[in-house]
Amino acid sequence: MTEDKKMSDFRADETMAENEDTASSAPETQNKEPVRQIPIHQLDMKRLIELDACTRCGECLSWCPVYDQDAREDLIPRRKIMDFLQIARSQNGFLSGIMKSEKVGESLKQVIKKVCGYTEITQEQVNEFVSNLYECSTCGQCEVVCPAHIDTVNLWEDLRRLIVQAGYGPLEPQKALRKSVMTFDNPWQQPRAGRTKWSRRAKKDNLIADEPREIKKTKGKVLLFFGCTASYDTNVKQVAIHTINILEALNIDYGVLGKEEKCCGSVLLRMGDPEYKRLFQENIDQFNSLGIDTLISSCSGCFKTIMQDYPKIKALNFEVLHTVEYLARLLKSGELTFPYPVNKTVTYHDPCHLGRATGGFDAPRMIMEAIPGLTLVEMPRNREYSRCCGAGGGLKAGFPDIQGRMAQQRIKEAEQTGAEELVSCCPFCYQGLQLGIGVLESKIVMKDLSAYIAQALLGYDVFEKAAKEAEEKKRKKEKAKALKEQEKEAEKKKAQEKEKNPASPADGT
Ligand code: SF4
Ligand code: SF4
Repeated sequence: MTEDKKMSDFRADETMAENEDTASSAPETQNKEPVRQIPIHQLDMKRLIELDACTRCGECLSWCPVYDQDAREDLIPRRKIMDFLQIARSQNGFLSGIMKSEKVGESLKQVIKKVCGYTEITQEQVNEFVSNLYECSTCGQCEVVCPAHIDTVNLWEDLRRLIVQAGYGPLEPQKALRKSVMTFDNPWQQPRAGRTKWSRRAKKDNLIADEPREIKKTKGKVLLFFGCTASYDTNVKQVAIHTINILEALNIDYGVLGKEEKCCGSVLLRMGDPEYKRLFQENIDQFNSLGIDTLISSCSGCFKTIMQDYPKIKALNFEVLHTVEYLARLLKSGELTFPYPVNKTVTYHDPCHLGRATGGFDAPRMIMEAIPGLTLVEMPRNREYSRCCGAGGGLKAGFPDIQGRMAQQRIKEAEQTGAEELVSCCPFCYQGLQLGIGVLESKIVMKDLSAYIAQALLGYDVFEKAAKEAEEKKRKKEKAKALKEQEKEAEKKKAQEKEKNPASPADGT
């Protein structure tokens, strides 16, 4: 950590302490709660320049997927930037110093307000800004279309951090996620010990041959990081199951962390919670100690966080790839081939964290192209213009209605392609889009790309195979039971007949 960074963190702590003091020492007689200081001094020069760089062109308005569902001008990046600057100006600088000074008389303050256009910010305005800042999935679409090239996602995340430090964030419904990550190391309020429950169940159900190998025992060179959603959500366990089957089929020297795997911390970072640093640091130290060459994840959110955000805290001594990128490499080198067809027409949803955030547009398409029988029909909004499903950035927790409408919009787009199935590369998108399918009662089937890869490698769908086997087992069991009952019935009848016609002594031996 640099000295500057230490200083800025120290100042952050100071500001938080000051804010707590100010809040608690506010006079009871005062009706209005004092507006707490937002520590803008923590923003680096790049962010300050970006705040000034917005030309107010409004290009972001036509592309923001949240604005599509909640057409309030306050939500779009242009307005968020303007509102933040207004708050910052009212709290900092020469004029604000004069206005806050007890030595300056009220009449002079009124003149300054009139002549210099100084506006004092109210608590309501700050609260509204905070809510608007969180009504955003951090999808990055505004960044792609912004002619001023404002790095909006990082800007929103930095502003959220300041907001949290000032005691204004995260929003009430988002706090449960934070509490869960802090208590259980996962955002789904599930016990730590339950992280590997899916694999025990999957083995019992014949969906995987064996439970995944633990990297500490195997000393494998590839660490497979499942992430919390694929580990805990029973609807999304297919992502983990297919990934294991693919790696086993390809005989990859991999391993997993098992119960020692923890949340990647993405949810805390996106919501502006400073605790993300602790999780990042602990995970980095754990990963760096394993002696791995590569970390792969089938979760786009975990992948983006580990690949892009972790190195900002500490250097990684391994490469980070999304599983599809890792497999695309094997495809290119000829180590991966697909012997079996998957006869389906599908459309692909680019996850924001794999696509726009890291440029991972080609690997999933390359794989789909290589699978015999698979036909990809693109939605009009694809690659860097892919419409966000709303599942990320804390939006689903804070504004579930908006997320639901965003998912439905994306499902309608997928349906219009005529595809039978909608495929993506992220358990979070899977979960989010599935909600849209449910509400619309759509016939389109949600899939993770790992399902097609596994099928094209193995020649069957493990879930269908396991279901057939289970059905067959059940049928055999029922048949055996019926046979036993028949035998019992026959014996009973025999006994009854014997009772009716007891054998005469002459019949005896
Ligand atoms: S990141 Fe996405 S949701 Fe957020 S303001 Fe930009 S376009 Fe809208
Ligand atoms: S597209 Fe960029 S420059 Fe234009 S209004 Fe939006 S944030 Fe500002």
